[in-house]
Amino acid sequence: MPGLEDLYKEIILDHYKNPRNQGELSVPPAIMEEGFNPLCGDEVKVYVLTDGDLIKDIRIDGQGCSISQASASMMAESVLDKTLEEAKNLIERFKEMMSVHESNMDSEELSEDNDENSLGDLQALKGVVKYPVRIKCATLGWNTFDQIITPEE
Ligand code: ZN
Repeated sequence: MPGLEDLYKEIILDHYKNPRNQGELSVPPAIMEEGFNPLCGDEVKVYVLTDGDLIKDIRIDGQGCSISQASASMMAESVLDKTLEEAKNLIERFKEMMSVHESNMDSEELSEDNDENSLGDLQALKGVVKYPVRIKCATLGWNTFDQIITPEE
């Protein structure tokens, strides 16, 4: 599909230049976790404010490469107003997408997803799988967010 890769690059660049849900929330009531990716020097702070089961607000503060910052921005946009359950499900599916081995890579596979299961714009990050060094950039914000909503006990 010609142009698809360009479109994906554009989506990533757009989120990098105009990050969504950027900023801070006061802690408490919000919860904050920091994530680092020493391989690339990426830093992400994720602030989450929940209301019962609902992700009422999420803010991202960080610096680093375009992949890390765009991915965190896309994550924030995707999980806002979702339930914790839905957010966990999305993390699961995103990580699955980012762990696809090259030999299994079939770009058609994901585009055949029905709307309900579609990762939407998040699929723009799938191309990162081709560059294993950058996968940690793409998953940084997600892992940090996961630490907040899935506390280790
Ligand atoms: Zn990076």
